[in-house]
Amino acid sequence: MDADITIIGAGVIGLAVASELADGKSNVYVIERSASHGRGISSRNSEVIHAGIYYPKGSLKAGLCVEGRRLLYDLCRQYNIPHKRIGKLIIATTEDEMDQIDRLLDRAKSNGVTSVSPVDQKQIREMEPNIKAVGGLYSPDTGIISAHALMDYYLQMATANGAEIVCGTEVVGIAREAKGYRISTVNSRGEEFAFISERVVNAAGLHSDTIARMIGNDYVLRYCKGDYFTIANAKKGIVQRLVYPVPEKNHIGLGVHLTLDLGGRMKLGPDATYIDRVEDYKVAPDKGDLFYESAVRFLPFIHREDIVPDMSGIRPKLQGPGEEVRDFVISEDQPGFINLVGIESPGLTAAPSIARRVKEMFGAIRPRA
Ligand SMILES: Cc1cc2nc3c(=O)[nH]c(=O)nc-3n(C[C@H](O)[C@H](O)[C@H](O)COP(=O)(O)OP(=O)(O)OC[C@H]3O[C@@H](n4cnc5c(N)ncnc54)[C@H](O)[C@@H]3O)c2cc1C
Repeated sequence: MDADITIIGAGVIGLAVASELADGKSNVYVIERSASHGRGISSRNSEVIHAGIYYPKGSLKAGLCVEGRRLLYDLCRQYNIPHKRIGKLIIATTEDEMDQIDRLLDRAKSNGVTSVSPVDQKQIREMEPNIKAVGGLYSPDTGIISAHALMDYYLQMATANGAEIVCGTEVVGIAREAKGYRISTVNSRGEEFAFISERVVNAAGLHSDTIARMIGNDYVLRYCKGDYFTIANAKKGIVQRLVYPVPEKNHIGLGVHLTLDLGGRMKLGPDATYIDRVEDYKVAPDKGDLFYESAVRFLPFIHREDIVPDMSGIRPKLQGPGEEVRDFVISEDQPGFINLVGIESPGLTAAPSIARRVKEMFGAIRPRA
């Protein structure tokens, strides 16, 4: 087999790229090492459609989040992908935190997120009578989505347009050759197979740096784990919107916040802890004390016994602890080889716009007839 385009990784990014590039004419392959698609970062996140408030002005994270959010809501409406535009409050729990609220409002405006508006204590009380805040911001365009339904949609679009998804197959080596890239794989039965692909997209999530190093590009990802705790079902319905305190000063996470899923279940998290490079998804129950203390400041109705360990996810970060925030890498580092590295949050929201960006980059190399 020879391929026109090979995408490494069948998470939301690889699948979005596949659905954008599959055109019924090119041989497009998606190679995924897990037994099925969507088992990596894309299945372990908050499923929030972010508005684009937090990210540095002019960054890919800001621009692609704002564009991706619009594209995502359009897709959801058009193809009945389960989602809800429930809105989000970013709140200050003390007067001291209000200057951070002001700074976030400025940042939101400079990122083109014009729907965000300041809200005072009274307005917050009217919207969410059960939370405690002195003031904040309201983002009506933030929402939630079923990440799995989105990935299933992308998979269907890609395969309907001729892409082939090959699961249970790991990419173990890549070498540049005259006609493209020789991709070496091993499948779950231990069988080796190699083929040539004219173009390659590296969408391997937590392993995208390893893939990039196979062709000599030296990215290094740091793993930053985010744990979640569930709030007892008895409290379901007590809060209607996502509620975030002001972000952590160290910028590694957005602070323990309240998320809701499409069934109205409330979750706290994710926190942010740098870990060794292992995919360990256990959630330590004793962390519950910390989650409780962070959350009870703005969710006074919760009791310690209400919160129980839930799932966790791992962020593929380009920056280490205490380092300046780094942007997504979307880079054609070798001719016809695009690396997508450091695709942490808001990667789910930005997926449709990242896919468009990849298509544009390939278009610039060799315009299709
Ligand atoms: C805790 C947490 C919360 C988040 N919350 C949000 C949110 O609310 N909103 C938002 O917009 N974003 C959020 N994100 C970010 C978002 O989840 C990610 O940006 C997105 O899912 C990344 O998708 P991906 O396809 O790059 O990675 P993945 O989903 O991990 O896909 C990569 C795939 O590559 C495969 N792979 C790896 N190596 C190989 C190999 N050698 N050969 C073959 N296949 C390979 C893996 O098995 C995997 O399936 C969050 C992330 C985390 C960790």
